[in-house]
Amino acid sequence: MINLVLFGPPGSGKGTQAQKLVEKYGIAHLSTGDMFRYELGNNTELGLLAKSYMDKGQLVPDSVTIAMLRQRMESDVVKNGFILDGFPRTIAQAEALDELLHGKNIKITAMLSLVVDEEELINRLLNRGKSSGRADDVNESIIRKRLHVYKEETTPVYTYYDKQKLAVQVNGMGTIDEIFDELCLLIDDRYTTSFVY
Ligand code: AMP
Repeated sequence: MINLVLFGPPGSGKGTQAQKLVEKYGIAHLSTGDMFRYELGNNTELGLLAKSYMDKGQLVPDSVTIAMLRQRMESDVVKNGFILDGFPRTIAQAEALDELLHGKNIKITAMLSLVVDEEELINRLLNRGKSSGRADDVNESIIRKRLHVYKEETTPVYTYYDKQKLAVQVNGMGTIDEIFDELCLLIDDRYTTSFVY
């Protein structure tokens, strides 16, 4: 079973690559950002709560995010493997995920971290904002805030997985197809290795 954490700053291409990977490997796509936007689209209490953080470029509190993810993982959707996109974003989330997976006897295959220059990230996000309809992609100061939050709160998550020998860095500066090919090579390699041993 392939169970991936796709990691990287906002604008690094996690969503784009996750969509291609779920198609190729037939696994579930679990994006906490998409889950919050879905809730918001349905005007739920959770959606409105999340919006108050998202619009400011802040993280939604761990308790709320972890509870939502946990509920999603209880469903059958993950039984054939999954890609987590945008989760975990804090050490508390990473620990909660470990606990959750441990209870289900599921192991993470790899944590793939997309590496992209900051200026490139800002350009990509501003460009995406022209068509995505996402309020948090339109305003440069909110984009910078999201990148700041990423550095402060999310980068320690890389070290968390690195210590477990699960983290792999991937150059995220190429074309969509180049990055996708690189990800597939790494996944196939990891998957075969974890399968054999
Ligand atoms: P994304 O679509 O992954 O860029 O997420 C958009 C926004 O949703 C983020 O800026 C956060 O406000 C919120 N969000 C998504 N995932 C998480 C998470 N794992 N923890 C906290 N907030 C999150």
